[in-house]
Amino acid sequence: MEDQRIRYLQAMGITPWLLRDGQGDPGGEPVGGDTRPHQDTAGMDWPKLRETALDCRRCALCESRTNVVFGVGSENADWLFVGEAPGAEEDKRGEPFVGRAGQLLDAMLRALGLSRDQVYIANVLKCRPPNNRVPNPAETETCAPFLNRQIELIQPKVIIAVGRVAAQRLLAIDEPVGRMRGKIHHYGDREIPLVVTYHPAYLLRRPGEKAKSWQDLLLAKNTSRLAG
Ligand code: URA
Repeated sequence: MEDQRIRYLQAMGITPWLLRDGQGDPGGEPVGGDTRPHQDTAGMDWPKLRETALDCRRCALCESRTNVVFGVGSENADWLFVGEAPGAEEDKRGEPFVGRAGQLLDAMLRALGLSRDQVYIANVLKCRPPNNRVPNPAETETCAPFLNRQIELIQPKVIIAVGRVAAQRLLAIDEPVGRMRGKIHHYGDREIPLVVTYHPAYLLRRPGEKAKSWQDLLLAKNTSRLAG
């Protein structure tokens, strides 16, 4: 398994290393998170939540979408990955992270010894913004009850916020990823450990930063709850 992990890391262009014991200590970061009431998604079970999302017409993105990209994976996953919004390929297929960035995310999961169906993958926005523009605050706000309820239902042991939009939405901190990554934050009343890392689309443009992302994933893996 160790050899396989090292091969995956090398294939990703990352020099493998291990996190020293103790670096996963949560430390003193404040509890962050959007803990606003969940509006009408409160109490919904998975089928109802999915059906409500698939029928959603709460913002203008419903006019241009091909598919609602609700999320995939295990509904009891320990790991929840949250990205920004569907791109063209995701919109076409109705599944998050299936384009080029998704292939890199898959490689990172494999390096951690995880497959897509062992984790849960979702986005801040369930519908594609035209031309992949950055989600606007009104869209993020309108879509929030879906992701909030997904998190409540999954109760993951760790959340990985992939990129600035996900990190800022989940932590309500207005900081660049470079300042949010590399430490454990906490989400919501349950204080779920949350690690911020670079978006794989950014890593495709800046492969030299992949090693930092790998360090973030190891930090997530070393959170007390996953180690136990
Ligand atoms: N980028 C994201 O943030 N999410 C996807 O699903 C695809 C690309």
